[in-house]
Amino acid sequence: MAHTHMLNIVIFGPPGSGKGTQSEKLLDKFQLKHISTGDLLRAERAAETELGKQANAFICKGELVPDDVVIGMVRNFMVNHSDSKGFIFDGFPRTVNQAIALDSMLDESKTTITCVLGLEVGENELVSRLLLRGLSSSRIDDQDENTIRTRFKEYQNKTLPLQDFYQIQGKYCSIQGTGDLSTIFHSLCACVDKARK
Ligand code: UDP
Ligand code: MG
Repeated sequence: MAHTHMLNIVIFGPPGSGKGTQSEKLLDKFQLKHISTGDLLRAERAAETELGKQANAFICKGELVPDDVVIGMVRNFMVNHSDSKGFIFDGFPRTVNQAIALDSMLDESKTTITCVLGLEVGENELVSRLLLRGLSSSRIDDQDENTIRTRFKEYQNKTLPLQDFYQIQGKYCSIQGTGDLSTIFHSLCACVDKARK
């Protein structure tokens, strides 16, 4: 019962929509722990773990890493940060199975998702943002337009159905993800405040 007041935010949107950038701002404001499954997978790869090597094959192709791998990683993170005021889930869940698993993990901690913040950005803008990021980062999945297109297809087919999943629960909040960073941030905060009441 101790955790019913937790604040748990899912930041949702296609690759390049600004989830990571806005998560940093939200973490700071609400004192939450950041769970970016993409970052966790890249850390596993850098550490050359077995999990990292297996995941890398999917990441390089722009495909989703299997559900059980990602769910296990999130479970570990949550267990290791069980004293947190809440979490921001960034890039997770990406499939309906992952969303169901997340609900049950939160339920075990007697808490739930507070709200899902969906960043809306058009595909052409996303491609140019990702290619730009690819120029300055070491992310090979951002450097090839075919890989980027595969990531969008994966998003359309496997991740987008989550919009309905959360809309039905009254948890989905849609936010325009283009324009001024601080304007977007204020829209996100307004959704969070509304959902907390
Ligand atoms: N990935 C995945 N499951 C996750 C997170 C990441 O399969 O929960 C893989 C997937 O191949 C994805 C890549 O890691 O294309 C990069 O994910 P990240 O979330 O960092 O990128 P973004 O979509 O935010 O640009
Ligand atoms: Mg990201």
